[in-house]
Amino acid sequence: MDLNSLTIDSTRTAIAAKQISASALAQQFYGKIKAEDPEIHAYLTLCEDRALQQAKRIDDLVNRGAPLPPLAGVPIGIKDVMVTRGIRTTAGSKILDNFIPPYDCTAVARLEAAGAIVLGKMNCDEFAMGSSNENSAFGPVRNPRDKSRVPGGSSGGSAAAVAAGTAVATLGSDTGGSIRQPASFCGVVGLMPTYGRVSRYGLIAFASSLDHIGPLTKTVKDAAILLRVIAGRDPLDSTSADVPVSDYEADLTKPVSGLKIGVPREYFAEGLDAEVRAAVESGIARLRSSGCEIVQISLPHTAYAVPTYYLVATAEASANLARFDGVRYGYRAKGVRTLFEMYRKSRDEAFGAEVKRRIMLGTYALSSGYYDAYYLKAQRVRTLLTRDFEAAFQKVDAIVTPTAPTAAFKIGEKSDDPLSMYLADIYTVTADLAGIPGISVPCGKTQSGLPIGLQVLGRHFDESTVLRVAAAVERP
Ligand code: GLN
Repeated sequence: MDLNSLTIDSTRTAIAAKQISASALAQQFYGKIKAEDPEIHAYLTLCEDRALQQAKRIDDLVNRGAPLPPLAGVPIGIKDVMVTRGIRTTAGSKILDNFIPPYDCTAVARLEAAGAIVLGKMNCDEFAMGSSNENSAFGPVRNPRDKSRVPGGSSGGSAAAVAAGTAVATLGSDTGGSIRQPASFCGVVGLMPTYGRVSRYGLIAFASSLDHIGPLTKTVKDAAILLRVIAGRDPLDSTSADVPVSDYEADLTKPVSGLKIGVPREYFAEGLDAEVRAAVESGIARLRSSGCEIVQISLPHTAYAVPTYYLVATAEASANLARFDGVRYGYRAKGVRTLFEMYRKSRDEAFGAEVKRRIMLGTYALSSGYYDAYYLKAQRVRTLLTRDFEAAFQKVDAIVTPTAPTAAFKIGEKSDDPLSMYLADIYTVTADLAGIPGISVPCGKTQSGLPIGLQVLGRHFDESTVLRVAAAVERP
């Protein structure tokens, strides 16, 4: 089997046709991971026992001629911010270095119920805070397309494994762009569903009103297949939406001609790399030749999105991360004499610099006297950003933009400059703030061969249109 070219679609066909057993395929993936991943470092933990047990279950179904579930035998990796029963889950942090969760994240449970084989847990920025995967407590991930460069973040391991062919697909999480931006940097597809479309039960919280789980895959079709499995109401997450889940794969066959596609002028302004612009424009040209009507639009509050995001996200993070206190689980400092000293030293020794920076920023923005000026103001601007999209979607069916202002940057290039790192999210944070779905799909390459992603945004719960438009860009 050529593992590099396997898609979900081709894997399940090969398993069903008995070209390979699920067990043999999982073994081949582990062989490839052990040979190739030490250099990339996309995996933090492998779970061979659990994977091979599940593979055996699938092989039994195949041998009995029983009907196969939609992901039968498909090897998948899980970003290490989703808890897995009995399998170490770190969130990329030293504070959870030895954490073995007692339950499964709903998205993971749904994948396994659909027959997927969970190979292991993917490296990521600590608590999903970052745009380059350099904030992982366990060391960075290298971009398989150019190993001197970052894979993007925070789902860097999830994107790199798909690009390297060490997983057929992965799950990532997106709070400000962490699925779409690494997908763009690694030349794969990354889908952030509508807020509430996929249960967050078992997702270690970064910023609860912005967190989303979604797939990273080689093709748009694979993203459609995975989304259908993980989407839908979950009684364990009260923010999961009770909105019907479509057959996204079938929806892909509907034509895109006649769709109105908005191109927001604010996303093509200063700071956009010329090669990225050219590649995205060629993607837009493909949509035009598929019969889409391209419309210039404006999203006037875009300039406020990054500061708004970094206030809301850090405020929520400061509250969510209060639970890591050394008492119930995770790292506990040694040789302390008082309870307060135990809290303080545990957090000081086990959180990384970026996480501490955000806890301080968020605590400041929420503190009395500053709350109105920062947090409340940011919430108001968030509403304005959402209204920008609502007004735009009166006129257009989808919006197309670059995913990131540049292609993948060098490891170390921005790690000493948090502000320039934050600006890498300029085109992605808006969709998280508005709660709308977005996808990054490869649309071209730089002269030196680095992948470039095009972003498609859609109306709340209209992942079908987002996927269809992305598929039209993807088509050669
Ligand atoms: N890069 C952004 C941040 O650092 C987004 C992270 C994310 O989406 N998890 O917050």
